[in-house]
Amino acid sequence: MTLPAVLGGNPVRPQGPPAWPCTDPDILDVLQNAYREGWWGRYQAGFCERLENWLKEYHHVEHVFLCGSGNYAVELGLRALGIDAGDEVILADYDYPGNFLSIHAVGATPVLVNVEPSDWNLSLAAVREAIGPKTKAILASHLHGGCVAMSQLMEFAKERGLSVVEDAAQCPGAMIAGRRAGSWGYVGVLSFGGSKLLTAGRGGALLTNNAQIAQRARNHLLRAGNIVCPLSELQAALLLPQCEKLDERNEHRWKNVQALIEALRGSIGVQLFCAGRLPAADDLPAFYKVGIQYDATAFGLSRERFIRAMRAEGFALDEGFEAAHRTRSPRRFRQGSTLTEAEGAHAGCVMLHHPLLLESTASVLELVVALEKVRQHASEIHAAGEQVGAFPSRDRQGAVD
Ligand SMILES: *Cc1c(COP(=O)(O)O)cnc(C)c1O
Repeated sequence: MTLPAVLGGNPVRPQGPPAWPCTDPDILDVLQNAYREGWWGRYQAGFCERLENWLKEYHHVEHVFLCGSGNYAVELGLRALGIDAGDEVILADYDYPGNFLSIHAVGATPVLVNVEPSDWNLSLAAVREAIGPKTKAILASHLHGGCVAMSQLMEFAKERGLSVVEDAAQCPGAMIAGRRAGSWGYVGVLSFGGSKLLTAGRGGALLTNNAQIAQRARNHLLRAGNIVCPLSELQAALLLPQCEKLDERNEHRWKNVQALIEALRGSIGVQLFCAGRLPAADDLPAFYKVGIQYDATAFGLSRERFIRAMRAEGFALDEGFEAAHRTRSPRRFRQGSTLTEAEGAHAGCVMLHHPLLLESTASVLELVVALEKVRQHASEIHAAGEQVGAFPSRDRQGAVD
């Protein structure tokens, strides 16, 4: 039987994970045109305006603000909602770590709540339980191919007079109950970071349908007539051709993830987030990461060793985020519910980076071949790990942020 690469066998994907950004002649055209026409260094060349208009139309929102990062867009969103010192913002204990810091950046206090057992995304029941007299907003992130039930969340938030920041940084173009991710919240956030589905190396956007929120966002963004933390014309120009391909690429990725779900059906110790709560007919998930609920005991190998072995086979797997309550001082947050599922996500989340999903279904299904090879040799991999010492944890080559 073939040995796993981590024990000296041949890797399933000797070429390693595919590169990101992927090769795209339209990107080369933009770069050559920018140089030839000389607009690459200009303040104004019309591309930011075109990108804003495209995003408005695509999301059916009235106002779009381009900015330097998704992180900044979250902070700008909180400020535009009037979140201030002394206020509380509810978010999932298992979330993108920068969101905890953005809440602190505006002087507010994060309230940490549990995630759903089915897909480790924000739990609505936990949000309900966590509301206190100082609570002003909910920050809802759609993570790793899962998504928050926005229709129910918005209804509930309206009833209780709470604002909602919807973080769609991981799923541009996703549909949730017939509406684009990022267009449900009072404000929505996109990221154009270097590893993201729409990439300009850096960048972000804030979306809103509310004129008053938009006016406040504009005031924060334009200080003394000078824009704070802007996106450049060159960045916007590089994003436009990717926007045109977003739907087609999201569909391609989803088709491949569906093949993965099918191939992994009944696989012990490994379940995809999006298989835990399958999308309805008017949903379309998007995958910056494919989240995997990994059960080390059932699989027979620690998460670190599993990831190490799969990386050796040529697949870009990483550990998920760390739960905030495990890494932040208790003085910096309030615990709003039990955090047992978030604890499970902290220990058991594995993420597959998205570039593989644009390849053929046959290439994507090689992941399952590698996984079964690792499973069959789990005890030898475990024993080898003992000999060579601890596998380094949270080693993130090739898949950042
Ligand atoms: C990447 C990411 C962000 C931040 O985006 P940057 O552009 O890297 O600042 C925010 N939220 C989530 C869920 C993300 O994945």
